Amino acid sequence: MEFSAAGHDHQKHVLSSLVEKGKLPHALLFAGPRGVGKRTIAVELVKNLFCEKGSACAMCRACRNVDSGLHPDFTLVSGETSIKIDELRAIMKEVYESPFEAPVRVILIDNAELMTHEAANALLKTLEEPPPSNLFVLVSSREQEIPLTVRSRCMRLGFGPLSTENLCAYFEGVLKLDGQKAQLLAAMSNGSIASGLFWMEEEHYRMRQRIAELLTGAKETSIHAALLAERMTAKEDEMEYLSFLLSFFRDIWWLCRTGDSGGLLNKDLAGIMSGAAAGGVAWAESSILRIQEMSKTLRYNINRWLAMETLMLHLVRPA
Ligand SMILES: [Zn+2]
Repeated sequence: MEFSAAGHDHQKHVLSSLVEKGKLPHALLFAGPRGVGKRTIAVELVKNLFCEKGSACAMCRACRNVDSGLHPDFTLVSGETSIKIDELRAIMKEVYESPFEAPVRVILIDNAELMTHEAANALLKTLEEPPPSNLFVLVSSREQEIPLTVRSRCMRLGFGPLSTENLCAYFEGVLKLDGQKAQLLAAMSNGSIASGLFWMEEEHYRMRQRIAELLTGAKETSIHAALLAERMTAKEDEMEYLSFLLSFFRDIWWLCRTGDSGGLLNKDLAGIMSGAAAGGVAWAESSILRIQEMSKTLRYNINRWLAMETLMLHLVRPA
């Protein structure tokens, strides 16, 4: 089988060997952090299964139909906020028919944790007595939110963050960034291509500097904290910004402990950080705890802007 997605050699190997031995289960769960290529690999698996040349060639009719969403035996369900039972009902009937042209029908449920209770129950019924010639692939970055009853019917394949080398190769090879920028982005991206794409946007990239200035006390605090917090939460980008805050304080901690700016994740902010880092170990450590706490609860917080503003005010370097 052929996969072109970055990294995850072990997972690709497992999938290849399941297919080669004819041991593909009726349901797979691809679990792991967002933006590392789980869904891409799931779609490449489908192409490998359907391809007229048997190798996810991307050129044959079957491969192109998978890519364009027109293949009659491939259904992609992908919710933004929730996956309701209505979206699954037609599929749950169809699975009792034979596939049209492929050897197996594939139903890919992306963000599977967004299934409502009813949708998850309907899926569970099908998974309990799976009709032949169907493969369900559930993709999730929050697998613990999928009911255990559903998860336990799936073979789980865990995906970790991508390596810095994998990310660098992707940014240079696919996105055609120059080497230095690719390395900086790879270090900032926490193993996630999605994060890299987020920070590639000029507006987001520049926000990092403004946040760093605020936290190190280079800018007047209260007004800026409110303004920045609004922008950090305006488009539900807060998890990216919380990741950045973690990496920022990891860097401060690193600078305090080693004085080595070569090992920073946010190398472009070395100037702003080095001025504020001296004696900042306790500041960095307590900030990291605060941010981790916030990461766990923010999603359930009704007023994210206010929560973020409060956090930012707590994170500013004590005078
Ligand atoms: Zn093909």
